[in-house]
Amino acid sequence: MVNEPSEGIDWAEIYNRGLLQPAVVNSVYSESIGQDLGLQSGDRLLSINGKCARDLIDIRMLTGNDKLTLVIESTDNSLHLIEVEKDPDEGLGIGFTEALFDGLKQCNNKCPFCFIDQQPSGYRDTLYLKDDDFRLSFLYGSYLTLTNLVVSDWERIESQRLSPLYISIHATDPEVRSQLLHNKRAGLICDQLRWFSDRRLQIHAQVVVCPGFNDGPVLQRTLIELSYFAERNSPSILSVAIVPVGLTHFRPDDDELIASDKLCAGNVIDQVEYLQYSCSEKLGSRFAWLSDEWFLIAKRPLPPISTYENFSQQENGVGSIRAFLRDLDMYTKALPESLQYSRSYSWVVGQLVMESLKPIVQRINRVKGLQMFLYGLPSLYWGQEQVVTGLLTGSDLLVGLQKENLGDILLIPSVLLQQNQLIFLDDIELSYLQEIFPVKIEIIYGAMDLVRICANEEYYIR
Ligand code: SF4
Repeated sequence: MVNEPSEGIDWAEIYNRGLLQPAVVNSVYSESIGQDLGLQSGDRLLSINGKCARDLIDIRMLTGNDKLTLVIESTDNSLHLIEVEKDPDEGLGIGFTEALFDGLKQCNNKCPFCFIDQQPSGYRDTLYLKDDDFRLSFLYGSYLTLTNLVVSDWERIESQRLSPLYISIHATDPEVRSQLLHNKRAGLICDQLRWFSDRRLQIHAQVVVCPGFNDGPVLQRTLIELSYFAERNSPSILSVAIVPVGLTHFRPDDDELIASDKLCAGNVIDQVEYLQYSCSEKLGSRFAWLSDEWFLIAKRPLPPISTYENFSQQENGVGSIRAFLRDLDMYTKALPESLQYSRSYSWVVGQLVMESLKPIVQRINRVKGLQMFLYGLPSLYWGQEQVVTGLLTGSDLLVGLQKENLGDILLIPSVLLQQNQLIFLDDIELSYLQEIFPVKIEIIYGAMDLVRICANEEYYIR
């Protein structure tokens, strides 16, 4: 196993043994060093200053010098030794095909609530990959459990200062956490949190609440113990997101898991909001935040936007509706009073969030010549009536929209599609929907995009 790339490493030997793959160039940014060097898609970066990169983090670290010696293998298999002089802060301007060149560190837990295990079988392999890789956590904010780290991983986190990391806590009680993750090593979490704290490395945490397992007093203990690591002057835990467990009808009947209902959601909201109050006093921050789903399930209003502070857990569904509404509110002000050419749109979202978007749709519909239909769909695929938008599948859209008036343009939020791919969670391709629905389909990437498409006079529909 390759641990640390060392000076004068024999990269050819490493690659030949298949322990590591070279970094393959995917894109070269214009006016970058990569472009000046004539690098092209498919070229392979074999070493930087005699060292092999294990991942994009190594690339970042290794290219942070003013003098670089690169070994590049071109697509015609010719080798090139290239000397580069640059500003230490300047990157090479290259995008790579993968983030990890030595393979994904997979999860060694067996959480009964694991969403990956709650999928039907027979789809593409990548849907079943259980990532628990600290590098991806650092690079992209994915959550990890720390149960699969070996000594060299801990050393690397410390030496490369990989902070903040995103960690799934679920419970600080060692027994409860071990039970939830089906892994004895999970009980070490408090020692591990102290390890981060001692080294001034920071964390964003999350708790997935499984009613009957880690709600009530267990949740109380978890949040209080986590808050001990959030001292005002040098917090090691920066925030905690509390999210409800997501359950599908593909899981076994005897797993004893239950979804959060209105009563449970109300209790969790009361519990966390009370804690937020005391954290604000002691820590200067609310520290723990509830994902939007809690308020939608409990049928309570979303908290005011100011309560989300710096939206540190927005990717986890904390405050994302409020942020989206704020942006929509801002951008819809730029809508014209009327359109030159009339047209109509349909916008598909999860049933759970539809109510909160209705006021915005009413405002959009005040533009003369523009009509927006909002469709909040359940997910028959997952067996969930009240579903967030990001869980809708291609088959949910095919079923839910088949008899609806889709207008001239169907707007599909980008969160329904796999990253950088035009494919839904159930492997249905967007092109298939385009064949079935006789309307133009547009993907919307955010509030600005939605308004831009609505206001775009180039959409002249005959
Ligand atoms: S840690 Fe995550 S990926 Fe692994 S089993 Fe649990 S929920 Fe699934």
